[in-house]
Amino acid sequence: RAKDTGRGHLALFDRDDREHRRLQLALSADLRAALESRYLTLAYQPIFDIDTGRIAAVEALARWDHPTLGSVSPETFVAIAERTGQIDRLGLWALHSACRQAAEWQAIADIGVRVNVSALQLRQPGFVSAVARVLADTGLPVGRLGLEITETVWLADTAQVRDALTELHRMGVSILLDDLGSGHSSVTYLNRYPVIQAFKIDQSYIQAMPGKRPEAIVSAIVSLAHAFDVTVVGEGVETEAQFERLRESGCDLAQGFWLAEPTDAETMTDMLRTRRAG
Ligand code: C2E
Ligand code: MG
Ligand code: MG
Ligand code: MG
Repeated sequence: RAKDTGRGHLALFDRDDREHRRLQLALSADLRAALESRYLTLAYQPIFDIDTGRIAAVEALARWDHPTLGSVSPETFVAIAERTGQIDRLGLWALHSACRQAAEWQAIADIGVRVNVSALQLRQPGFVSAVARVLADTGLPVGRLGLEITETVWLADTAQVRDALTELHRMGVSILLDDLGSGHSSVTYLNRYPVIQAFKIDQSYIQAMPGKRPEAIVSAIVSLAHAFDVTVVGEGVETEAQFERLRESGCDLAQGFWLAEPTDAETMTDMLRTRRAG
């Protein structure tokens, strides 16, 4: 059972039938093979400073080109990896590849890289030292790395997760809260996690603009963030009108198809070179 998510990927939705479990099992084996044979790649999407128009950072997004199914959505295969004990390997692969690429980019641009991290990875006792090792191996300056976590970490709100985030913050790694407002948002947690340096407002609010309520919510998030000294990113900007509303709200950074779609590393490198030259 497949459904097009509208992002040009295949996602699996129905959970209740045997057919679905069979597919999940097959995909799980395929994912293991893909991790071994490098069928996985990273796409990169720039994040722009709204005031200056400069590329502030680049988000790494995992891509899986399945031999028979074609492109499988990261939402699907990340969930499979989480359920089948492969998320640590997938996560480490993404982190290492993104840091290696970003280390190369330092020669042409002062940009950071953002890597998505699953809540399950954060619960692994060795996660912080794995990040330190990747930074040492790739030579990426620690201040260039940002880890995007989602509100699902609140579900695993343990001392261990808090300690890991605090330790990463002390090392100089940025912690960003992705998809803010999509799930388990709570002011309690925003207060309990002072290590978060950036909020990424969930795309649903951006895409509901122009509109009175989404604009009010976006403005409120920007005010709260700035009062906390937290940077705000508007994600999923698809139109000029949305971008303008975001700018008017005082939002710091913007990301979305209207500005630039995720591309392969080579195209991203060209974009960084051209922008420096121009
Ligand atoms: P995310 O981290 O919130 O990433 C943003 C998603 O929005 C990406 O989808 C991106 O392609 C898409 N996007 C960007 N601009 C626009 C826009 O203007 N309009 C629309 N409709 N979409 C836009 P993608 O690449 O399919 O990734 C989906 C999710 O999968 C990510 O959401 C992230 O949660 C997860 N993911 C991707 N790569 C990894 C990874 O390496 N590790 C982990 N744990 N999760 C990952
Ligand atoms: Mg993200
Ligand atoms: Mg997001
Ligand atoms: Mg500003």
